[in-house]
Amino acid sequence: STSVYPFGGKAAHDDPRQGDKTVTGGKGANLAEMASIGLPVPPGFTITTEQCLAYLAGDKTFDDSLRAAVASAVAHIEQSVGKTFGDAADPLLVSVRSGAAISMPGMMDTVLNLGLNDETVEGLAKTSGDARFAWDSYRRFVQMYSDVVLGVDHGLFEEALEITKEDNGYYADTELSAEEWQALVGEFKSIVERELGEPFPQDPQAQLWGAIGAVFDSWDTDRAKIYRRLNDIPHDMGTAVNVQAMVFGNMGDSSATGVAFTRDPATGERAYYGEYLINAQGEDVVAGIRTPQYLTKDAREAAGAKPLSMEEAMPDAYGELARVFDLLESHYKDMQDIEFTVERGKLWMLQTRTGKRTAKAALKMAVDMVGEGLIDEKEAVRRVDPMALDQLLHPTLDPKAKRNVLTTGLPASPGAAAGRIVLDADTAEQWSQRGDKVILVRVETSPEDIHGMHAAQGILTARGGMTSHAAVVARGMGRPCVSGASGVTIDREARTLRIGSQELKEGDEVTLDGANGQVMLGIVPTVKPELAGDFGTLMTWADKLRRMKVRTNAETPEDCRMARQFGAEGIGLCRTEHMFFDAGRISAVRQMILAEDESGRRKALDMLLPEQRADFTAIFEVMTGLPCTIRLLDPPLHEFLPTQDADFEELADATGLGVDHLKRRAGELHEFNPMLGHRGCRLGITFPEIYEMQARAIFEAACAVQKESGEAPLPEIMIPLVATKRELELLRALVDRVAAEVFEEQGERVDYLVGTMIELPRAALMAGEIANHGEFFSFGTNDLTQTTLGVSRDDSARFLAPYVDKGIFPRDPFVSLDIDGVGQLVEMATERGRATRPDIKLGICGEHGGDPASIAFCEKVGLDYVSASPYRVPIARLAAAQAAL
Ligand code: ADP
Ligand code: MG
Ligand code: MG
Repeated sequence: STSVYPFGGKAAHDDPRQGDKTVTGGKGANLAEMASIGLPVPPGFTITTEQCLAYLAGDKTFDDSLRAAVASAVAHIEQSVGKTFGDAADPLLVSVRSGAAISMPGMMDTVLNLGLNDETVEGLAKTSGDARFAWDSYRRFVQMYSDVVLGVDHGLFEEALEITKEDNGYYADTELSAEEWQALVGEFKSIVERELGEPFPQDPQAQLWGAIGAVFDSWDTDRAKIYRRLNDIPHDMGTAVNVQAMVFGNMGDSSATGVAFTRDPATGERAYYGEYLINAQGEDVVAGIRTPQYLTKDAREAAGAKPLSMEEAMPDAYGELARVFDLLESHYKDMQDIEFTVERGKLWMLQTRTGKRTAKAALKMAVDMVGEGLIDEKEAVRRVDPMALDQLLHPTLDPKAKRNVLTTGLPASPGAAAGRIVLDADTAEQWSQRGDKVILVRVETSPEDIHGMHAAQGILTARGGMTSHAAVVARGMGRPCVSGASGVTIDREARTLRIGSQELKEGDEVTLDGANGQVMLGIVPTVKPELAGDFGTLMTWADKLRRMKVRTNAETPEDCRMARQFGAEGIGLCRTEHMFFDAGRISAVRQMILAEDESGRRKALDMLLPEQRADFTAIFEVMTGLPCTIRLLDPPLHEFLPTQDADFEELADATGLGVDHLKRRAGELHEFNPMLGHRGCRLGITFPEIYEMQARAIFEAACAVQKESGEAPLPEIMIPLVATKRELELLRALVDRVAAEVFEEQGERVDYLVGTMIELPRAALMAGEIANHGEFFSFGTNDLTQTTLGVSRDDSARFLAPYVDKGIFPRDPFVSLDIDGVGQLVEMATERGRATRPDIKLGICGEHGGDPASIAFCEKVGLDYVSASPYRVPIARLAAAQAAL
């Protein structure tokens, strides 16, 4: 197949492969496309990515057919511009540019002004009538070629240039004269000779092939590999090479170079946005050698800057550029990021690609472009990255505010939070009740800290990774969290701490940025998220396009209310144990656990019943008309056991039992492996009175809300950790019995369902018979992942990252569902469950319900709904719509 594609000039651009980015790379495909729609593109050619892969896989040589194809493509450029490569009188100069299918900005190499040597530089000086320009171009070429192709440290050249400038008292590069550049080229060449033991290559053909090989090689550099790993780009794509006639932005004051976006990539405003430099070449703009100037008059004035904008300094070229912007947008139907050069007043286009943008800009552009008729609603929904919405849903730090950064940890849960430091959960709760905003700072958090995490604006931990307890719970609650900030040390006795080099005490103010892990001194002002406007519009479109429902994981009325605002269509998981950990109740819970017998437990449960009823009533009032899946008590009793002497003493007072006795009882209940221990439905089987109390609280609350408001939600009572049909059969009978009792007592009845979580491999295998006893399944993919992989989530931080690095798992399986493995169990249970009960309701709860890749899988399997934490509800709505497209 064709290995070299000419573009520009009289090139045909008629092979569809030339427009295929996997063949010609993004840069090459778009250069050809721009040329074919009549934009001014310097002529050139593209060598395919296939050639790169062949070169890298073989012995790194070029075969004759490639050499022949390149020779004829060079002839194409020569004819188009009327100059000859290597001609001493009037030389053609080219750039050799890398360009992969997926752009890897700055990762790979480019050489400009190739074809210059001691002879052609004289020709260039004559034909341009500008010796200074010719020698400046030559020294740039020697510098770049030596760096990129020959591997000579570029610092050596920069040093030599600095010395020349210092000797002459110059400030800017532009002050050097032709003679001074010429002298410098001499120096540069001797640097090369000294470093390599051979002279700088003078033969343009040798230069060309050297540069082509170097671009191919740049695909395999360490930095390119690391970039690809971080950005999930496959390693087997290769880069294309673009060889293109040079145009010169460094030919004096009617020449310039610049980069621009067709709309503002930060805000999405429909305003041209960019920078340019007069009398400069290529990378001067990005390299920061001189401060670039504004493109438009408006932008310059808004910034109060003096140097003229391009619109003012070169109105004709600017007018042409603006026309090109509009053409590009109507052609590509998206915001473009472009590179251009003006050579003596004439505009040339050197690159275009779809521009990167902030989440805010992505939304605004998608909605605006539908309004402008550029794209339809489907395309708008497809274009916005659901995960990017996360940035928009939390209050964020005012970008204009000053930051005094003390240390940086992991960005565990996004959003900004500011408040007074508190060092334990109880203090967090007390201070927040008296109206303080607090930041909970812990070495790491545990389930006992939940109430404090809830009371806090944000959480900071010294230890733990992105999937630590603090991180997972904080994301679930929508609390910003910075975890694993090793610059934090806490002195619990003295109630002081050190963050970075700063000594602080409890009550001092700090700000967290959960988006980048920064911890700042003092209160940094924030800006509120905008849920109406473009966000609301896009969400309405997404809702029209999706099939799956989106519910939320929530257990407080505040979270439920927020989730409804975010568009939740029910509760997919209400974890009742979070209510048990509440400060006021833990003592009653402990009395229940430590009781010797059923009557002791019932006494404690009687204290908890009104509290649970009140919990459910408050939630049901918010969720009227919607399904609410409530999971009966699930965590190991072990987690509720007291550990502090003070707790035992309090319990002794409350129960009249001795401290020693209570300690012995706690010792008996201790478990070695609580996650596989006395938990889930095993609690309901052994202590049925616990589930009875919970069922009663749910039905009494539902009846009460129905009486009061005429409408109840639909309680879906969920039995956790079922492995066998018999467990569900027994516990469903218990729930049905309690329901009948309550309806009888109340003279009121409500609809309800009973179902189970599928979170053990055996449950997935036996889903067919389990479905006989339950009306719904909810895939508890957190536990299902733990139990299928045999990996404990809380202990996985230490080895999961290396596992992902080594490609054993493509992503953290607790973040993105292991579709190949765990996914099979989900699929199997879905099929078997439906075979038994065709109308069985199927959903997913757990972290995966908010992960777009996992959501796409749920759509494929045909689940009825996904459930995500409140802040992830909009992400799930958009991802569900994209999955359905
Ligand atoms: P990158 O992918 O790192 O942006 P490029 O290949 O786009 O690298 O080139 C680097 C710089 O050189 C850009 O500013 C580009 O516009 C400029 N450049 C590349 N080719 C030419 C050319 N033929 N004439 C003028 N400038 C060029
Ligand atoms: Mg570029
Ligand atoms: Mg579970």
